[in-house]
Amino acid sequence: MRSTPTMPALLSTPNPSRRRLLQATLALLAARAPLAAAQQQRIPIADMHSHYGMLTRTMASSGLAEDMRSQRVALVAWKLIADARWIRAGDTGISQVSEPAPGALAEHFNTVLGRMKAYLAANGLKTVLTAEDVDACIAGEPGIVLASEGADFLEGQVDKLDAAYQQGLRHLQLVHYIRTPVGDFQTVRPVHNGLSDMGKRLIEACNQKRILVDLAHGTGDAVDQALAVAKTPVVWSHGWVTQSGGNWLDRFGYLQRRLSLDHARKIADRGGVIGLWGLALSAPSPSWSGGWSVGRRDAQAYAKELANLVDKLGADHVAFGTDIEGVGPNWSVNDYAQVRSVVDHLQEMKLASSVIDRLAFGNYARVLKAVL
Ligand SMILES: [Zn+2]
Repeated sequence: MRSTPTMPALLSTPNPSRRRLLQATLALLAARAPLAAAQQQRIPIADMHSHYGMLTRTMASSGLAEDMRSQRVALVAWKLIADARWIRAGDTGISQVSEPAPGALAEHFNTVLGRMKAYLAANGLKTVLTAEDVDACIAGEPGIVLASEGADFLEGQVDKLDAAYQQGLRHLQLVHYIRTPVGDFQTVRPVHNGLSDMGKRLIEACNQKRILVDLAHGTGDAVDQALAVAKTPVVWSHGWVTQSGGNWLDRFGYLQRRLSLDHARKIADRGGVIGLWGLALSAPSPSWSGGWSVGRRDAQAYAKELANLVDKLGADHVAFGTDIEGVGPNWSVNDYAQVRSVVDHLQEMKLASSVIDRLAFGNYARVLKAVL
């Protein structure tokens, strides 16, 4: 609350007009206190991966800003899909369907980022650019971290990163679904043995520029090589974790997208955070779903998977990475009221409040502040 710092000055002055001002101020504060207190009691929410308003909703009428405000959502990594025009969802997963023409990836990025920034301006949403901005968002102002799912817009040129940073990009996922000079990703046969030289230079450039590196969709080798280069904590913004991890030969995309527990722990050991997605299966079953237990609209099952991951990785290394709209109809949560209900379920499950705080917002806030 901005009026707080001036209070001691008001209290110390005997001037009658100042005293009347003081009384009016106190009355105003008293009137607003219950509402503010109720709002402050709600645990802030941070989401490391969201396509809200980009795929199944129309951005302008998506209601993202209202949803963030009403649900006390502090931080959303709003993910531009860098290769969206060149991929398609099939029966078993998402894959590349065409080859971008020279310049088309950069043009796509600029067009979509422009639309995103126009939305933020029209709706008065804060763009998170600095560590101080992160603090302001946790304190109560909802903020968007401009993020890209895929570094494809660079078209292989690391020096183009500066222009994206100047436009506000602060969170960069290296790879997605189309062939890229950056490195290997989980859903096709590897060709780079992990990261390319350009991919490694890109991580160095992100560290220099103070852009958060997101390793989601990368292969295990790419994760290992990225961790060897990175000087600050990284995130795996969305996906899930199993003992052995996925393989590009797995039958379904969601199985390919498993991160091994070993790699998740390596990311955690370096101070990083794993975002658990809100993917839902139409009929999850221990016999065929590989252990993922979340069915459609089942926010409680999502809460249980989050708690399970906390058991495996520790409370400092798990966060929301909902992938809202990215999972199409296969969602357990599709808006922030539903994400709020996940937090409620975690409370009903009697997780310690310090654990819920870290999971719900603290961990993403921490890595952002460490990087920005
Ligand atoms: Zn993704």
